[in-house]
Amino acid sequence: MTIVTKEQIVHWLELTATVLNENREYLTDLDRAIGDADHGTNMDRGFKKVAEKLPTVADKDIGNILKTVWMTLISSVGGASGPLYGTFFQRGGMAADAKEELSDEDLVTTLQGAVDGVIARGRAQPGDKTMVDALLPAMAALKESVAAGKGCVGALADAVAAAEQGMKDTIPLQARKGRASYLGERSIGHQDPGATSSYLILNALLTALRA
Ligand code: ADP
Ligand code: MG
Repeated sequence: MTIVTKEQIVHWLELTATVLNENREYLTDLDRAIGDADHGTNMDRGFKKVAEKLPTVADKDIGNILKTVWMTLISSVGGASGPLYGTFFQRGGMAADAKEELSDEDLVTTLQGAVDGVIARGRAQPGDKTMVDALLPAMAALKESVAAGKGCVGALADAVAAAEQGMKDTIPLQARKGRASYLGERSIGHQDPGATSSYLILNALLTALRA
């Protein structure tokens, strides 16, 4: 069994800020095609603020660290993604509770809480061309691999691969939620920005766990 430490969680959030900054134009270009060209700037702004706050909460428990991300995102990111990613970290933080480290099962519970939160808040179904189309396949792969006895790093690698596939699989879909749904059939043929940021965030977690 592997253990995810608090330091790795903090490292994940720092890496997320870096990766979203590096991908700001990419995410914004994806959102330009089927939205309003702000997803990259939204996510970069929010996680810059998260990175600024991290040193002040790095010694708190994992639940508290994740709840700080929630509070920071909802106060700095507007649009659909601010409340949705806010809920991801709020509900993930609730699931992680006051833990100082996470077992494999705790990691599954934390991410499941986070993803359930996004679905409860946004009410997107699989195939609606949203971040849920990256997050749900990732959870399925994570749970399957943990159940098969893989440690959390191996299981998360499978989850990230599933998220990447889910992200690519949004291209032929017609959007049924959010701003992109206004385009109807014209949303077909473009990769969903939120599915892309979700893949990047999960991949940052994998990088942090491997470090
Ligand atoms: P906005 O659409 O308000 O400009 P962003 O551009 O930051 O917000 O985020 C857009 C992304 O939000 C979409 O690509 C999609 O993945 C995600 N999204 C939109 N609505 C929902 C929803 N109801 N459930 C899940 N994800 C959603
Ligand atoms: Mg947008």
